[in-house]
Amino acid sequence: MMQIFIPLNFLGFVYREMKGALANIEKMFSLLTVKPAVEDAEDAAELQVLEGRIEFDAVRFGYRENREILRGVSFTVEPQQKVAIVGASGAGKSTLFKLLFRFYDVDGGRILVDGQDIRSVSQDSLRRAVGVVPQDAVLFNQSILENVRYGRVDASDEEVMEAIRHAQLYDFVQQLPEGVDTMVGERGLKLSGGEKQRVAIARALLKRPPIMVFDEATSSLDSRSEQGILQSLREIAREQTTLVIAHRLSTVVDADVILVMEQGRIVEQGSHGELLEQNGHYATLWRLQQQERRQEAAA
Ligand code: ADP
Ligand code: MG
Repeated sequence: MMQIFIPLNFLGFVYREMKGALANIEKMFSLLTVKPAVEDAEDAAELQVLEGRIEFDAVRFGYRENREILRGVSFTVEPQQKVAIVGASGAGKSTLFKLLFRFYDVDGGRILVDGQDIRSVSQDSLRRAVGVVPQDAVLFNQSILENVRYGRVDASDEEVMEAIRHAQLYDFVQQLPEGVDTMVGERGLKLSGGEKQRVAIARALLKRPPIMVFDEATSSLDSRSEQGILQSLREIAREQTTLVIAHRLSTVVDADVILVMEQGRIVEQGSHGELLEQNGHYATLWRLQQQERRQEAAA
């Protein structure tokens, strides 16, 4: 449903990041004629990230008038914590990170990063500090190596290769005719959803920003590559503030805090153990998914 919107926005931010660097400029220009939804304040400062604390303070937001999607959302992600957001499709999870990335401005309340309202800082500085692995990754008509390098254009080949390994992309790349130099996209190899996600994950790993957001980033992966990536993420997330939006609860059990969203509100929060004990929405969701897994295993 939002497939069209997110890639446009992401191209926008990738472009800003890549300005002057390698890029398929032509294509991006045609997309950039879409006016950005938000603009920098005249006196916009540079975001200073010292710790990486994120605060949503009574955030209200709707894409259109008369249809509020977030209805007063408050939570804090402490520096270097891993916070997971779960909830039914349509609950407003992806909207949270779109606001954090400032694709849109909030209608009420505020979002702070290390105490700075994100409306008061430049978008460039905000987007440098936040890495996002989106649900639908955008690839360019370039080699796999260059596609990953978008994460940080001055990275060495060795650093790019390391990110490719951490993202569990190495085995796949190795069996391609030209390895990491194989072209992808419209004029090259067509990648599956899972392969694209791994390219996006490799990009984010290479960027290593103080704040990382994964939006169902492992949803189209098989469980073996998912486990491998989660292990890499656990290592990396130790130094970063990490927000994980997840459908599969098995991917969030180790989070410091799990927020359960329902229709634009946070209805429960706590660790996996605490939430099971509360025996509310999360516990019900968990039992359902366990049941599904048992049925799958039996089938
Ligand atoms: P989730 O990620 O939890 O599945 P989303 O945050 O993507 O939920 O969406 C929450 C609600 O906002 C949904 O009802 C969705 O249809 C609506 N929505 C999402 N993106 C847009 C958009 N660009 N324009 C209008 N409505 C949107
Ligand atoms: Mg979503």
